[in-house]
Amino acid sequence: MSIAKIFKSFDNLIKKVPSTLFVPPEKLKGLLSQLPSIKIFKIGNSRDGQPMFGVKCGVGKRKVSLIAGCHADEPVGPMMLIFLCQWLSNHNLSKALLNEWTFIIIPQMNPDGALKNNSWMELPLSFSHYFENAVRELPGDDIEFGFPETASTLVRPENKNASTFLSQFGPFDAHFSLHSLGVGGGVWYLIGDNHGKSSQHLREVLKKETLLMNYDLLNIDRFGEKGFTRLDEGFSTSPTSVKMKEYFLARDDKVMAAKFHWSSMEFIKSLGRDPLMLVSEVPNFISPHLNDLLTKEDFNKKIKFEEARIKAFNNQDKEKAINDFLKEYEVKSMPSVSQMSLQFKMIINSLIWVANK
Ligand SMILES: [Zn+2]
Repeated sequence: MSIAKIFKSFDNLIKKVPSTLFVPPEKLKGLLSQLPSIKIFKIGNSRDGQPMFGVKCGVGKRKVSLIAGCHADEPVGPMMLIFLCQWLSNHNLSKALLNEWTFIIIPQMNPDGALKNNSWMELPLSFSHYFENAVRELPGDDIEFGFPETASTLVRPENKNASTFLSQFGPFDAHFSLHSLGVGGGVWYLIGDNHGKSSQHLREVLKKETLLMNYDLLNIDRFGEKGFTRLDEGFSTSPTSVKMKEYFLARDDKVMAAKFHWSSMEFIKSLGRDPLMLVSEVPNFISPHLNDLLTKEDFNKKIKFEEARIKAFNNQDKEKAINDFLKEYEVKSMPSVSQMSLQFKMIINSLIWVANK
């Protein structure tokens, strides 16, 4: 089957996106249980006692892990992984991929966080609902940076459940952690530094797919801070707990440094092989004024944007002030279906790249 047909079939599937991105655990279980040839596991409970689920699909020698929802206020990734499970279960389309790959998926890493954010998850996402109601965990509670370095490291139950489940199937050849930007200048892909330089061809493919959908790439350079080393327009290496710790230790903040455990990337890499690891940072809202973040002046523009946004939200005539702000900064939303389509293209193109490496 041609890749164009594969992409089209996923785009057709996600047209059935529900009216909200919030999916409670029981509904998630129901959705996954009815899919043919998908094996579903209960992998444990969240801190607040909600069930967490993992999925296995495919019989291939190569293994890929996919997780989403680590950050409480990033609900597009979990919805995308539910659709990915649906897509994989339709063998007319996915047979070749499932013969080559075994998919291990945790669609929702943070059911407690999703529940705390469900009030703004109705589609289409609203800029004001999002900024007024989105909540996320602080370092120390951050599930992406909460994976255990050893079996006895004390971490959140979500991380314990996920690491125990994923370990059974490792080592992996590829790993994806789906993330979002609240508002950004474009799409940003983070690649594990073991494939930073060697991923040039893959980066060109992902850049082409993004531009084809008429979205910009985030042109950012964080000069290696926290592990974000620029690879190209739209691409950086992914942050690591080692670099996070270094960053805070250099600022004499031992308490903050101690809050970072392994990221999911560091954990998956520790299981062996040389996995391609990718994080998608796809914006819910896009402003071209935030696209070029290369110099100190550019980053000052970002601070000004944030100040203007807060000022608009605190204005007595809030509705008008927010509309004026959105106009001034040319803020547009990126529909969830476009975000999911792009994440799907990232995953499929990456798996092809790994198989041909
Ligand atoms: Zn995130």
